[in-house]
Amino acid sequence: MSISKVAKAAANAAYAPYSGRKEACVIEYISGGKPELCVGVTLENCAYPNSVSAVHSAIVDLRTRHHYTKAVQVRSVHFYSVKGGIPSPRDLGLLAEFQSENFNEVEVVDGKTISLDAYKRPHNPLPLCNSFKYPEGKIPEDYADMVYAGKESFDDNEKALLKECLLGMQKAWPQHSAFCVGAAFQVELEDGSIKTFHGGNVELFDLVDGLCAERTTLCRVANTFSSSMYEGPKPKRVIRGACALFADSLASPCGGCRQNLAEWGAFPMYLLQCDPKKKTYIVEKRDTTSRPDTLKTLLPMAFTPADLGTTASPIAK
Ligand SMILES: [Zn+2]
Repeated sequence: MSISKVAKAAANAAYAPYSGRKEACVIEYISGGKPELCVGVTLENCAYPNSVSAVHSAIVDLRTRHHYTKAVQVRSVHFYSVKGGIPSPRDLGLLAEFQSENFNEVEVVDGKTISLDAYKRPHNPLPLCNSFKYPEGKIPEDYADMVYAGKESFDDNEKALLKECLLGMQKAWPQHSAFCVGAAFQVELEDGSIKTFHGGNVELFDLVDGLCAERTTLCRVANTFSSSMYEGPKPKRVIRGACALFADSLASPCGGCRQNLAEWGAFPMYLLQCDPKKKTYIVEKRDTTSRPDTLKTLLPMAFTPADLGTTASPIAK
């Protein structure tokens, strides 16, 4: 299948129940000498400004699917909108961060292209290489084998979630703050099996363009199931999620992430608080939104698709 057909198929599977502007961005890139494709799709939220565009989703997905020391080199970008639109100026600016001798235009529709020249940014192409350093004692790979120091016991699925969440820290791209956060989500598929996703926070040239680990990982979930390259069973629901960070007090998702999490339904979030000195972590559980059980809730009085009179869901279509 050609890349433009991959983009069209993904756009049709995008989550845009509020605007209907289903869009997809497919980035062809090189990492470790191998060509790969990264598919990003629109991921809307009932609180509209919390929505993530297809281009933004593709970029954070691309940067956080590889270890932070691994360079990624963009070769081409293909954009498709079911309503015939083109990427926003903001999205073209984001893509301009990846400009190089080999990549300077975006293919939009019917082979037409948009040059990124007008969107050039006054900086080095930071996302292409390992150009930031973690402070001593907070380098995430030092903590791949961090030891759980709590009292609760976990089943094998929960252990897999926690492990991938720690792995997500190593995929983070906090080029400005060097504050890495990992996240993971487990999705139950229609055949009863479980698929686990992980990711990290991504900071781009402008701070406002970054995305937290939780939202980056939710983008990766949506992108995977919208891609025609995914051939497994259909997703049914998110059954649990996790986020991990180095903190002196309880780790917790920011307000923006809580709003995005609420769109995905009610499920427990495992909050990993990592201690860089002892190389241990503890876990506390919260629910994403209200459920009739005893867990505390991350987002009381959540604003959900039901408030707009819809049963829209990014996971079960
Ligand atoms: Zn957040």
